[in-house]
Amino acid sequence: MPTLAAAEERWRLTIDNAPVGIAVVSLEGRFLRSNAALCSILGYSSEQLAELTFQELTHPEDLDADLGLIEQLLADEIPSYRMRKRYVRADGQAIWTQLSVALVRDGRGKPLHFVSHVADLTEELQAAERIESINRELTEQKARLERSNADLEAFAMLASHDLQAPLATIRGYMELLEAEYGAVLEPNANDWINRASQAAERMSELVSSLLEFSRVNGAGLLTREMVSVTAVVKEVVRDLEQLISETGARVHVADDTPLVLAQGGRLRQVLQNLIQNTIKYREPGRPPQCEIGVEAREHDWLVAVTDNAAGIPEEHRESVFSLFTRVNGTESGHGIGLAACRQIVERHGGRIWVEGIPDGGSRFSFTLPR
Ligand code: ADP
Repeated sequence: MPTLAAAEERWRLTIDNAPVGIAVVSLEGRFLRSNAALCSILGYSSEQLAELTFQELTHPEDLDADLGLIEQLLADEIPSYRMRKRYVRADGQAIWTQLSVALVRDGRGKPLHFVSHVADLTEELQAAERIESINRELTEQKARLERSNADLEAFAMLASHDLQAPLATIRGYMELLEAEYGAVLEPNANDWINRASQAAERMSELVSSLLEFSRVNGAGLLTREMVSVTAVVKEVVRDLEQLISETGARVHVADDTPLVLAQGGRLRQVLQNLIQNTIKYREPGRPPQCEIGVEAREHDWLVAVTDNAAGIPEEHRESVFSLFTRVNGTESGHGIGLAACRQIVERHGGRIWVEGIPDGGSRFSFTLPR
């Protein structure tokens, strides 16, 4: 059995090597015993500390709070207390700590001394400060981005308005030229007029699409509601009636798809783009077909548009969602539709992607969070 002296020595070693500062403090506040961790936190040796009181080492702004708690402790109103407070180190620097204090009483309840734990909070506070400064930086960046987004949107609107007007003039004069002089001009000249008109029309469409894209990007909250994909698809089919009947396309959606949470107009824009693409990029000689499905999952809805069109080579399945990307050597379109779809889906908090399917078509899928 260990002797009392050996047990005490073991106890002393334990306290001395503890990773937090520990002190036995007299009722007047003197550091009767201090371990090595406390000496290193405060910058004094234990002999120096024995000559000092906690009142002398406490930062003046934190002293009253500490003394108030000590009073409560001595009055037996609280069993112990914890507080964040600053000590003033030997080198004069203030240091933040987490202090825990308990009062030790003898068998009859008479107060003997305090036991204090002191944990250095410097690293924790520095980390918190770093996080705060990163947060501040992010908030400023967000404000800068919002400003530049608003500027860009204003610019896009202005540019598109200012570009549309001269384009309309060009188209108008081309039409006039064709109507007035078409009959007397060489066939070559008529062909050139035609090409110039078509180019002006294409440019006008491009400007409108860009404007639409910049609107999706623009700030402003999405107001979401429960929307029926079936109803939206039926509206899209009505709008694309001419293209659908010219190409013999078949667009199928079940009558009872689950409702999804989305902004109706934006969802319609996504579905219109995806459905129109299945017809635009159809495989020659194959009547276009597409099927729209909705699956309610635990955290989101999965909407899929599956087609029998030309398919998208694997190496382009990521880039087709970037602005101005066109594949399959196509000359039509401006490569804006899928970029707009991605913007809209991501603003809803969802994801969009495309996969190939066995017969050579594609399946475009997107999610909408619940
Ligand atoms: P656009 O607005 O010019 O139609 P999109 O961004 O909608 O452009 O599409 C980008 C490109 O992706 C198109 O040029 C086309 O080559 C390809 N693509 C899009 N949808 C399909 C589809 N359903 N099947 C095959 N190719 C597609």
